[in-house]
Amino acid sequence: DPATVRTARSLVSDARRVVALTGAGVSTESGIPDFRGPDGVWTRDPDAQRLSNIHDYMADAELRRRSWQARLSHPGWQARPNAAHEALVTLERSGALRAIVTQNVDGLHQRAGNDPSAVIELHGTLFETACLTCDERREMREALDRVAAGEADPPCLVCGGILKSATISFGQALDAAVLSRARTEVEACDLLLAAGSSLSVHPAAGLVGLAARAGARVVICNATETPYDDVADVVLRGSLGEVLPAVV
Ligand code: NAD
Repeated sequence: DPATVRTARSLVSDARRVVALTGAGVSTESGIPDFRGPDGVWTRDPDAQRLSNIHDYMADAELRRRSWQARLSHPGWQARPNAAHEALVTLERSGALRAIVTQNVDGLHQRAGNDPSAVIELHGTLFETACLTCDERREMREALDRVAAGEADPPCLVCGGILKSATISFGQALDAAVLSRARTEVEACDLLLAAGSSLSVHPAAGLVGLAARAGARVVICNATETPYDDVADVVLRGSLGEVLPAVV
């Protein structure tokens, strides 16, 4: 409702050190489905959740072959930033945005024009591969070319280990330095703007409580309820492509 939008807008315009915490919901309007939203991959097929953990990925060669086929046709390769991403570029240009802590792996904040050094990718990136044995990092493009040329489950070219996108699957630890940087930014912010996340994946979701305990204002923009709605000063429902530009 317009009064709630006005309240959120004045909180944002009073803030000097905003940190945005984003999730898959900011990219659904770019054509990349989320996991838990109304049209989410897991909402449609609860079984798909099993496929996103590291233990099955390492143990099951057939699952890896299917994962590589899915990466080959991932909607992220074609996706363009939407109005929600653009709103965060506007906020950065106003001087108030300190960092974007994102759970997304699609690179769309950087593509939209946010300073790449201000984007903290908590869950890694789809644009690189990581070897699960020697941690060699390479361009995803290189592995996808190998898959397209007929290697169904391309091994690491350095050590022969299993390759995966450089993203955090369930059962994998977040990069400690990346998480620590995110916590430092969140503890120093005066407003946390959480957008497009069900706030159900930890430790990312815990950053909302951390901000609130450190005295920051909290604005949550998400189509559906989150476990942190009670902590927020303002909660906005509705489509992020409309809500974020209205708030910023
Ligand atoms: P999630 O799927 O758990 O939650 C997304 C939330 O966004 C939902 O609550 C949904 O109601 C809301 N939402 C979806 N579209 C919206 C819209 N247009 N306007 C307003 N709200 C909208 O996603 P999450 O919290 O980010 O956690 C899922 C995990 O999946 C993350 O770890 C992330 O790494 C990964 N993931 C990433 C991508 C991506 O990079 N684009 C896509 C899918 C999953």
